[in-house]
Formats: sequence, structure tokens, C-alpha cells
Amino acid sequence: MLSTPTAAAIYARISSDPEHDQLGVTRQLQDCRAQAERRGWHVVGEYVDDDISAWSGKPRPRYRQLLDDISDGLVGGVIVWHLDRLHRHPKELEEYIEVCEPRKVPTVACVSGDIDLTTADGRLIARILGAVARSESDAKSRRIRRKHEELAQAGKMGGGGTRPYGYQADRRTIEPAEAAIVREAADRILAGDSLRSLANDLSRRGIGTVSGKPWSVQVLRRMLLSGRISGQREHHREIVAAGDWQPIITPERTARLRALLTDPTRRTNRTARRYLLAGLLRCAVCDSRLVARPRGDGVRRYVCAKGPGLPGCGGVAIMAETLERFIVEAVLHRLDSPALAAALAGAQAPAESARLAQAERDASSAELEQLAAAWGSRQITWPEYLAARKPIEARIEAARRTLARESQVTALEPYVGASSALRERWADLSLARQHAIVAALLDRAIVRRAVRGRTAFDESRVEPVWRV
Ligand SMILES: [Zn+2]
Repeated sequence: MLSTPTAAAIYARISSDPEHDQLGVTRQLQDCRAQAERRGWHVVGEYVDDDISAWSGKPRPRYRQLLDDISDGLVGGVIVWHLDRLHRHPKELEEYIEVCEPRKVPTVACVSGDIDLTTADGRLIARILGAVARSESDAKSRRIRRKHEELAQAGKMGGGGTRPYGYQADRRTIEPAEAAIVREAADRILAGDSLRSLANDLSRRGIGTVSGKPWSVQVLRRMLLSGRISGQREHHREIVAAGDWQPIITPERTARLRALLTDPTRRTNRTARRYLLAGLLRCAVCDSRLVARPRGDGVRRYVCAKGPGLPGCGGVAIMAETLERFIVEAVLHRLDSPALAAALAGAQAPAESARLAQAERDASSAELEQLAAAWGSRQITWPEYLAARKPIEARIEAARRTLARESQVTALEPYVGASSALRERWADLSLARQHAIVAALLDRAIVRRAVRGRTAFDESRVEPVWRV
């Protein structure tokens, strides 16, 4: 026990990313203060930066102050909610290590636990956490870019010289009958009608597009998103200037249509959100598989689902984002463990068993074909065919399972002992690939009930069961 309590600094940062930043700064500070109390640390300062665009590299005055105070010996320990609050770039982390290491100033992160930057292991974990946070941020900018491209396309009216709907062939004089439809469409969408029902209704009334085809949801959406109908020019989807043609609706209505039609929560019928750990999580209470189920406000979760036809107990739910981050960290960390390298090196046998399984599968498939041919040429009866088919299919299934197991190990091989290579590429890997790598290492993770009143991610709730 220390004779004098550590003089602790709390650092918090407000960022604008609502998906990532579920916790407001108040929450961050509360968790950090509780952490200080648990450790018997005396909080000497709270440093809060308002960092609206988290990855822009904007200066953070309070963070600089914190570094100065550590250098001056005023701070003996740092508490943050998560390391990603502290550092946005690897070079910031390295600078931070340079300041803290010689002074033996520990850093405590409420989410990921103690990270002792004075040891090689601690620094490794910090770097992994940083890489994971950065890849999330990269993914976010990719998402934004994609959205921009989509909207830019949406702004282009029709293809190849067709006149825009609502205008005559000179592309600037209003075509009154069509303009009335544009106004009606805008009114109805702004009033809460869906694109689908609007398109159906126009079809029913025999109203088609410029080329006379029925309106599709996509074409309708593109038209309503365009700046053209309110007499505005676009460049890369952004409205850049007033045009010199007649507007059908006001720019204000276009702005509202754009806000409405590009609202991500509106896209309920789009592809389901992605769940990295689908199939890998078990309920600690009833051992059911957790299923992906977003909360009412769209926040991704895994839950033990209870209901008709569902085996679960309904007692466990966990936020997907932080859990996935935690598991990925753990996987990357484990890839570098000597135990894993040894386990895989000793697995000479898998290659052999994979060869056998492959041979078995090929032979059985050939038998199945012969059998079908025998039935086709009436050498055997249908019941005979069915009876003979069963054991062959069982052999094929067994071989398939063996091969699947082996290929999971193969997914890992290039990265064993080289997790830094994987870390760099992680964000660029497809979800299927990421899932294969996680599943190759992780047999399952058992998720316990939340402790009442604890809303921050609590890693003690999760028990990974490793395959290798
Ligand atoms: Zn359960």
C-alpha cells in the first residue's frame, strides 16, 4: 500500500461520433472518478477536451496541459475511460509513453483495465487498442465517403441526354403536368409517405417517368434528392450554386427532402447491420446462442432471445460495438502468444487429415453419382437408392466438417506471431474474413448477466473459450 495517495489526473474527450461515442463526457468522468476511488487515488485534476472531429489532428489544449503536468511531476497516475480518448494517432501514443515511462506514471483505462505503459506488454496492448480504434475511424471515413458517392450519383438526373423529369427538352423550362407530380411527390414524402407506396400509386394512375417506364423507388428517390428540381446546381452531390433554370420546388424543401431521405435510420429495409460475433456467443445462464438484435434506437446488441420458437432465457444482452472491439483485441493479442505458435507448430497432423478428408469426400461424391446413374438406368429401385444414399451422404458430411475445421486453422497461419501485419490489414478485411479469423481462434465466448447499474463495458462479463 502506498503511504501517500497517488495524485491522479482524469482525462476525458468529447467526440462527435455518435456510434462510437455512446458515452457522453459526464459518463466518462463518473466512471473515471469511481475508478480513482476504488484505487484510493486522489484526483488532482480533470482534463476535458472538446474534440468535435476526433481524427482531424486538431490541437487539444487540455491534453497538452496534462502532458506538461506529468512532466512537472504534478501527476502520478492517469485515468481515462478508454485509451482511445487519450490518443488519436500512434505518434501521440509514442510521445505519451516517452513522458510517462521515465516517471513511472501508470495509466488506467476504465474499459480495458490497467495498461502499464512502462512494460513491453502494456505498450503492445496500448498499440493494439490504438490500431483497433484507428481502423474503426478509417472504416467510418470509408462509410462517409461511400455515402457521399451514392448521393453524388443520386444528384445526376437520368442518363445519356434524357431530359430531366419536370422540364422540357431545353432542360430549363418547366413542363407543367410533370412539375405537378414532382410537387406532389415532395409533399407526400415530407408528410411521411414511403417511396414505395408513392411509386405504387403513380403506377396505378398510369404516370410514368420521362421514358414512360413505371417509377421505381430508386429513380423516385434520385429525383427527390436532386438539387435540379429546386433550381440548384450540384457538384459531387453538394449543392454549389443557384442554377439558371426554373425551380419546381423551393431549395428549403430540397434541403428537407435530403435530410429525410438520407437519414440512416430510415433505411430499415436495407441490408442488416453486420455482426462479427454471430454464432460465437453463448448465454452464461442458459447456454443458448446469443443472437444479433439491435436496440430500438438502432444500437447493435447481442441478446439471449426469449420468445416463441426461441430457446433463450432473455436474461442476457450486451452491446455489440465494445464487445467486438474487446474480442478482436484479445484475438490479436493471442496470435502473438508463444502457446499458440507452439500449438499450431505441433499440428502437423491437420494437413494429413485434411488430405484424407478431401480424398474421402471425392470418393463419396463419385459413389453418389454412380448410385444416381444406377437408379437412372433402373438397375436399382427408388427405395434402394434412398437407402444406399444415406451412408454416403453421412461420409461426405463428416469429411466436410473435417475440412472446415482445417481450413479455419489455415485462415490463421499467415498471421501467427505476426499480429502486427494482421492489425494493419484488419479494417480492410471483409467481415467474412474477420469472422473466419476470430472463429479460428475462438470456440465461443460466454457472456454473463450485466451487473446492475454498470453501463460501461465490463470485460469480466465475457469469458472467451479458445480453440487453440
Ligand atoms: Zn440465456
